[in-house]
Amino acid sequence: MAKRQFKSESKRLLELMINSIYTHKEIFLRELISNASDAIDKLCYIALTDDKVGLTREDFEISIVADKDKKTLTISDNGVGMTASELESNLGVIARSGSLQFKKEMDESTEGNATDLDIIGQFGVGFYSAFMVAAKVTVISRAYGDSGDGENNASKWVSSGADGYSITACKKDTPGTEIIIEIKEDTDDEKYSKYLEEYTLTNLVRKYSDYVRWPIKMDVTKSRQIETDEKDKDGNNKKEWEDYIETEIINSRVPIWQRPKSDVSDDECAEFYKEKFVDQADPVAVIRVSAEGLVSYNAMLFIPSVAPYDYFTREFKAGLQLYSSGIMIMEHCSDILSEHFRFVRGVVDSQDFSLNISRELLQHDRQLKVISTNIEKKIKAELKKLMDDDIEKYETFYKAFGIQLKYGIANGYGMNRDLLADLIMFYSSKAEKPIPLDEYVKNMPEEQKYIYFASGESISLLDKLPQAEQVRDKGYEILYLTDDIDEFVVKVLGKFEEKEFRSVNDSDLGYENEEEKKEIEQQETDNKDLLDFVKESLDGKVAAVRLSGKLKSHPVCLTTQGEITLEMERYFKSMQAQQGVGMFGEMQAERVLELNAEHPSFAALHDAFANDKDKAKDFSKLLYGQALLTAGVPLEDPAEFSELVSKLVF
Ligand code: ADP
Repeated sequence: MAKRQFKSESKRLLELMINSIYTHKEIFLRELISNASDAIDKLCYIALTDDKVGLTREDFEISIVADKDKKTLTISDNGVGMTASELESNLGVIARSGSLQFKKEMDESTEGNATDLDIIGQFGVGFYSAFMVAAKVTVISRAYGDSGDGENNASKWVSSGADGYSITACKKDTPGTEIIIEIKEDTDDEKYSKYLEEYTLTNLVRKYSDYVRWPIKMDVTKSRQIETDEKDKDGNNKKEWEDYIETEIINSRVPIWQRPKSDVSDDECAEFYKEKFVDQADPVAVIRVSAEGLVSYNAMLFIPSVAPYDYFTREFKAGLQLYSSGIMIMEHCSDILSEHFRFVRGVVDSQDFSLNISRELLQHDRQLKVISTNIEKKIKAELKKLMDDDIEKYETFYKAFGIQLKYGIANGYGMNRDLLADLIMFYSSKAEKPIPLDEYVKNMPEEQKYIYFASGESISLLDKLPQAEQVRDKGYEILYLTDDIDEFVVKVLGKFEEKEFRSVNDSDLGYENEEEKKEIEQQETDNKDLLDFVKESLDGKVAAVRLSGKLKSHPVCLTTQGEITLEMERYFKSMQAQQGVGMFGEMQAERVLELNAEHPSFAALHDAFANDKDKAKDFSKLLYGQALLTAGVPLEDPAEFSELVSKLVF
């Protein structure tokens, strides 16, 4: 029978497994048990509506048999099983969503084991992990509903590693899968034979698979006291200990989320999360809900600390896992989880879900709405608590998912404002790190009217923004908005705790006194011809030229008027670049050039305007260029600007 070759990426994974120095070889058992449990889940689900399965919940089981003489470890289940073609496609290629990323990392990685380790940890390794301990693996599987009692009702997949595998027909009495692992010979470094020891196996099951709902059965050695025929000195039968073998269920089977809170340590929750949701990092928070009432349910939810590699792609599937009395009925139920909290992972289990309705219908179940609303409140409360009690942890979370919360505010047209406003943070000019809005408000001096913000491409740019200098000098904190979405967020929020947001670009910053304002107005009237001249010199590039009350040491600044700001313009431009010309074509910010009447440059401009119009025109262009540069907006014609500087200075 001809050997079939593994698909190339699978082959590399396999080689990695075979030569693995991975210290956690033991996880192979967990992986195989998880697969067995999934297979039983599937058949159990079918059995709900299909009498022909002929099994009830009590009949399903996973069994582990160690044969020390033959050096084999056999893991069997009576789940759905696989047809020959399923064996081919499931075990011949890596059929997991992480495989693309995996391949990428493999390609980028050298042959070094350090990166191998990462890969193993990150994706779990599934079936292939058997090769970390196996010299040869045989899979005998019969799919449910496949080919009855004939001689060839099942298939046998055999592989000794990277040189390929074979699939042949065989006979198996009942549907399900049997995985026979021939354990490797012991080496100096590794005692593979320990995986045939009862002690190791029971411990591994307890460590990794204790919560698996299906019974995991194994022969275990027990001792009992028996009476012998010999008499002791008092004439009673002597007793002695005798070992015997009994098949036992070695996992406790209660899903972790159904166990009482007091019974489950934080570490256990974290371990469960990492294994089930394939994450290397501990979650920043675990939320446990056990609700009675209109709908009774248990939930165990996790807030991850890092975003999965595909989180911001279409590949990412959000949603919670739905269980009905311990049976998984839906893997990604997104109806139960609001979009802005889509980073939350976890499990919701309720006896109240009606199982015989189709999955589609289930999505519109009224019960789901009740749960969804409750869960949203719990997540919000947990995040707020984290922010209040452990800001460092919150910062970790926020780095990964803060942007999601901001999108939640911006996209919801204000619908989620109150829910999410407490949870977002912006970089503070004073604290020099992101802070929550309530902290900003708390820090405001009594006379400060507004929440000030400045938006631009980077913190360092904003730190030097001319128009922000005065606000800072007054001792007011400024929030620096550097994400594209930030200005939209602030716009939707409008206010926080009754304090309005105000851009440092605004002509009214709320602290100018009436006299100052009048003075500037007067100066503008006095210099109207000059300001008009500057505007004309700039050839339509600016919508207005004004005298500014907010500049101190700088000669000019660039602001905007109307709805669209420079940041929005930049955002729309990048959207346009991504999506082609279209709806964003017309989005241009109306620029305003603000001049500092107190700065020597203004006197020079004034003088030139009176005596040398050409020079005044050059000055206008120079000042505009300076305004662009400090605002972080690229010059349209850098060479012309450079010439201008030379011409005026030298
Ligand atoms: P994963 O479980 O992450 O999908 P695996 O490599 O462990 O990846 O398994 C690949 C596929 O093979 C599974 O998705 C499943 O369809 C099938 N499979 C593995 N083990 C079993 C089993 N014991 N019974 C039925 N199908 C199985």
